[in-house]
Amino acid sequence: MSSNQTDVVFFDENGLRTDQRKPDEIRPMSIKIGVLSRANGSCYLEWGANKVLAAVYGPREAHPRRMQLPNKAVIRYRYNMQSFSVEDRARPGPNRRSSEISKVSREAFEPVLFAEDYPKAAIDIFVEVLQADAGTRTAAINAASLALVDAGIPMRGLVSACAAGKVGGKIVLDLNKPEDNYGEADLPIAMTEDGRITLIQMDGHLTPSEFEEAMALVQNGCRQVLEIQKAALLEKFASVMNDDEDDI
Ligand code: ADP
Repeated sequence: MSSNQTDVVFFDENGLRTDQRKPDEIRPMSIKIGVLSRANGSCYLEWGANKVLAAVYGPREAHPRRMQLPNKAVIRYRYNMQSFSVEDRARPGPNRRSSEISKVSREAFEPVLFAEDYPKAAIDIFVEVLQADAGTRTAAINAASLALVDAGIPMRGLVSACAAGKVGGKIVLDLNKPEDNYGEADLPIAMTEDGRITLIQMDGHLTPSEFEEAMALVQNGCRQVLEIQKAALLEKFASVMNDDEDDI
């Protein structure tokens, strides 16, 4: 995020962005649920040029045992970026950024999971970023949400995530890599189906009125993501139901 790149052109003469999107448009998203047979639930998600894979295990007995909580499940979330996911090789292993993203993403799910129903258990969420193009934490949350459903883990509802930001002085939805690199602000959020915000972060600067505009836009972005997530679930489980009917 840099505000010194005044020579960068973000909009064409029609007000469209470098990837031909309107300011309030999200990148195309495609989803495949249930792609890993070893995990209890999984999801592969592409969002623009981001590619992420989420795997969920549990609820299962928490190991090591000292991690067990007597009155609820421990929820663990690991966000990891593969070294080949970015242009310059990313250093493998956890770092400050991935630890922070893992922590805030876990917290984004805590309100929708019934952890208190599973004492001493663990719910493990792993997300691997295979290709990064800005917005990987939000892509990871959207995939993790569907992997949790695929694992059959009871939830109060889906969690949907999206970012808004400011580029070339304008508030836009779902920043791509050049917008993230040279824009003025990035505001990722995660939201429950009933509109509760479970993650909010901000990089850069917005005035109070710009912040309000970005918040309205990004909540709308989350609602768009929710519709895509629901459609993916319907596609997956409608086909499962059809298979079951064939077996009768
Ligand atoms: P997010 O991916 O959630 O937007 P950041 O704002 O921290 O998270 O990162 C923006 C983008 O910068 C990433 O999607 C990725 O394309 C790139 N990036 C992040 N970390 C690295 C890294 N260690 N090496 C190279 N590129 C990186």
